[in-house]
Amino acid sequence: MNAPTPLIAGNWKMNGTAGALAEAQAIKAGAPASGVRVALCPPATLVERMSRALAGGGVIIGGQDCHAEPSGAFTGDVSAEMLADAGASLVILGHSERRAGHGESDSDVVAKVEAALRGGLEPIICVGETLDEREAGRAIEVVTRQVRGSLPASLAGKAFTVAYEPVWAIGTGLTPSSDDIVEIHQAIRATLREMFGAGGDGPAILYGGSVKPGNAAEILGLPEVGGALVGGASLKAADFLAIVAGAPKA
Ligand code: PEP
Repeated sequence: MNAPTPLIAGNWKMNGTAGALAEAQAIKAGAPASGVRVALCPPATLVERMSRALAGGGVIIGGQDCHAEPSGAFTGDVSAEMLADAGASLVILGHSERRAGHGESDSDVVAKVEAALRGGLEPIICVGETLDEREAGRAIEVVTRQVRGSLPASLAGKAFTVAYEPVWAIGTGLTPSSDDIVEIHQAIRATLREMFGAGGDGPAILYGGSVKPGNAAEILGLPEVGGALVGGASLKAADFLAIVAGAPKA
């Protein structure tokens, strides 16, 4: 099977008000027309405005989380259907900041993935070990368990992406060695094949955790690295576009 088209997705986290749309416009202007998918996941308050501001360009808009239910008495939450209505076509699920800060378990992530599919959103499902787990030699075990536990069987035949994000590399400036990234990505690919058969070859497996212009090309060129999930460096158009430029073209 051909390698999936690389995806470079920016996770703006809880950053950005209307003034930040200028950066998004600059990303739209500089994003390549083909060969790589470029996505921005702003806070929920900006999804609709960013979708309108970037309409007609190649940048895909995504949410950062969604509730498992389509609507109801869930104060402060946003459903997949609402994100889609606002113009999103992707959603990040199971980010470590949600798992750690909001107590989300693998089964919560499964319910959210089901919700994303129901709402017509492509999920980006995040997995990754903590520093203690890596130092204990448990990174592969933890990550493959999260993949098995967070991806429902209903993903078979659907568009989805897995993001390997070591918790200790997020926002720290630290990154695993190239060998360690490849080892985990290969273990994720093997797990996807176990779960989905030949369909496990299709989804891109992103790397996330302190991707910057200076390390992007090396990381994005590694075997089984199908793109990047980028936090801090996605807030500045110049940095994000330099990362996008480092992606091998499909
Ligand atoms: C993230 O939070 O998904 C992330 C990868 O953050 P950063 O790039 O800032 O490490």
